[in-house]
Amino acid sequence: MIYEVMTKLKEEGYRITPQRRIIVEKIVQTAELLTVAEIWKLVRDEYNDIGLDTIYRNINILTEIGVLTPIMGTGNDSTRYEVTYTNHHHHVVCIKCGKAVCIDYCPINQEFIAMLRMQGYELIRHNVELLGLCTECKTL
Ligand SMILES: [Zn+2]
Ligand SMILES: [Zn+2]
Ligand SMILES: [Zn+2]
Repeated sequence: MIYEVMTKLKEEGYRITPQRRIIVEKIVQTAELLTVAEIWKLVRDEYNDIGLDTIYRNINILTEIGVLTPIMGTGNDSTRYEVTYTNHHHHVVCIKCGKAVCIDYCPINQEFIAMLRMQGYELIRHNVELLGLCTECKTL
């Protein structure tokens, strides 16, 4: 997955800086989906002078070129990021602790997509987030 991301960066005319590489590595290697602040914390273990703005800038570039998918939570800065090169799927997000879990299901009907294409839309992607309380937060 890291290789695909680096190839796409090059195709889009971006340089592969050590910072970009390590940001992608942290996202790919961590099982949980991370927020920008959490990514920053992990990257700082290796680059202790890296600023949060640098992380934001790079995450924005990676999202714009389509290699990262943003998963919206509730509240500011609760968006989590996932590398796009996985099977298409969606997420259930806990509104209390912010934990996001992948669900291997897509509720968007292919006929519906085909209909929109017929109407002339060029579709890029869609987001579906289910919001609720996780089992741990529910019992608190
Ligand atoms: Zn929770
Ligand atoms: Zn996922
Ligand atoms: Zn879907």
